[in-house]
Amino acid sequence: MKKNNTKLKYFALVIMFANLIVSAQTQGSKPNIVFILADDLGYADVGFNRDSSYPTDRGIIPTPNLDALATNGIICTNGHVAHPFCGPSRAALLTGIYPHRIGAQYNLPNNITTDLGIPTSETFFPKLLQDVNYNTAAFGKWHLGFEEGAYQPLDRGFDYFFGFLGGGKNYFERRYEAAFYRRLGGANPVTNEYQDPLQRNRDYVDPTEFGLDEYLTDILTDEAVGYIDNNASSSDPFFMYVSYNAPHTPLQAPQAEIDAFKVNNPDFEDLVRNSTYVTNSNPVTKLTDPVEREAKIEEIVTARINYATMVVNMDANIGRIVDELKKDMSVFNNTLIVFLSDNGGKVLTAGAVNYPLAQWKGSVNEGGHRVPMFFHWPNQISTGQTYNHLVSALDLYPTFVDLAGGTIPSSKTLDGVSLMDELILGEDAREDNPIYVVRPQKGFQNASINLGKYKIVKKGGNGQWQLFDTDTDIGETQNLVSTLSNAQEIIDDILEKAVIWAKEFKDVKPGWFDNERNGGHPHRTLWFDTQELPQYDKLFGSSELVLGVDDFFDKIYAVYPNPITNTFNIKFNKTIRDLNLELLSSTGKSIKKIDGANVGESTIDVSNLSSGMYILRVKADNDMSVEKLIKI
Ligand code: CA
Repeated sequence: MKKNNTKLKYFALVIMFANLIVSAQTQGSKPNIVFILADDLGYADVGFNRDSSYPTDRGIIPTPNLDALATNGIICTNGHVAHPFCGPSRAALLTGIYPHRIGAQYNLPNNITTDLGIPTSETFFPKLLQDVNYNTAAFGKWHLGFEEGAYQPLDRGFDYFFGFLGGGKNYFERRYEAAFYRRLGGANPVTNEYQDPLQRNRDYVDPTEFGLDEYLTDILTDEAVGYIDNNASSSDPFFMYVSYNAPHTPLQAPQAEIDAFKVNNPDFEDLVRNSTYVTNSNPVTKLTDPVEREAKIEEIVTARINYATMVVNMDANIGRIVDELKKDMSVFNNTLIVFLSDNGGKVLTAGAVNYPLAQWKGSVNEGGHRVPMFFHWPNQISTGQTYNHLVSALDLYPTFVDLAGGTIPSSKTLDGVSLMDELILGEDAREDNPIYVVRPQKGFQNASINLGKYKIVKKGGNGQWQLFDTDTDIGETQNLVSTLSNAQEIIDDILEKAVIWAKEFKDVKPGWFDNERNGGHPHRTLWFDTQELPQYDKLFGSSELVLGVDDFFDKIYAVYPNPITNTFNIKFNKTIRDLNLELLSSTGKSIKKIDGANVGESTIDVSNLSSGMYILRVKADNDMSVEKLIKI
């Protein structure tokens, strides 16, 4: 069904007119925007997503503050992120494009010394808000690069930053900072991102600013509340990116709050302990020893309680942000609050529940990428609504820039659509615009594509596409391939769009891998083995996606780390008449040179080198290129 554009424009005009009347009485014509992101929050772990079908023995987590916003705003029941785990999902949010386009489909290395980050050629949307006089601030988890002057929030469109640059953090700021400062400047400094101290703008925050028991979600909210206090009376609007790492692991909460949760929710613990969801879960049933099984059940119960406490704490802190905005009701009414999780919940021993969705964080099933989501904006949304059409987190970029009156550069690629009008009208903004989730696995790509009520899913290297109707079967339980007469036609139509989409980035390889432990990421062969490239052709079944040799990585070789022999092996796709290899330190100091003639491969012994980043300069006949290598 095509959208009735005449009707839409008419309503949009009425809304715009209404907005003009209202905004004359408020802070300014442009809305403030508070974008709150949770981390790994389960689909069922907010009240506004649970209905009477929810199996209460999985534990009900009360979220009154989120529910009050959601039920007075627009609840997006069919909201999706662009990737089922943290880093790529956040890169997509801020760049407005699928992470695969820029080789950002893995988390960044978790080492604070990494010089990698989201390419600076991509404009983050806060920069476009800054350009139209928004005050912009980021709080909490960044996960998009550490390097100052290139990848930090202040380099990407934020005026103010308070948070941490890595992908996670321990929750009690003072307790672990001692180790960081004790080892600072020594032979073995802390490099793990989870122990990187909090940062204000570009500098570490003085650890004495916090007490030993102060809790990270509280600290981040203190800063966010202070920022509202400082900016609410400004003539310029503000944009706040409140990026909590809660309730991501480690599952840490203040003990007093855990105790209070048990008192306030007296049935929770026993219900979860006796739930077949827990007792019949794979982590439990795969154990044969009854004692071990009991211990695993207790581990899951403890995880669920700690996680629930983290969610309750986050909800209360969001209530504090709301209370601060409400100190001036014209500010509150003129503020768009958008809430979502960066990916699906991680279940059982990580605490979340995704009911009624299948699977969890990391999956191409709904549990990986359909997330709790709502829009709240009193000036524009006067009664609570539910929006069941598809929404992508990629839509936030153009939506926010539009609302701010900003300009998207004509050269900017975007994968989302500006959809505030459609949201308010309940119209489908993505009729012809699928939501893709492509998640690389060991040696193959998993993928799913949502379009309207249909969803196709392929998992495993030799898997077939499955077809689901997510309107009637949100849990993806009924594969319609053999029961729906036009199933193949539906699948082929969706794949046709996917091929057009993937053609635009089929040559782009990952810019990094999250974890190079054990001498090389297990996904390397997926991307760097000439026999296997490029995989998008196999995934979507199209010869249009096959790479030619000339396209191969713009290079004529691939590098394979071998942790057993402590070497890097370089394999060329042709015989090289004149080969010069030079290995350099990360600062450019020459370490060793290797020459060869008429060779198809070469080996560099790195057994005497310390762990870290190295640069390999390759001169092969007339080709020259540079490669970053990581020795583990
Ligand atoms: Ca996450």
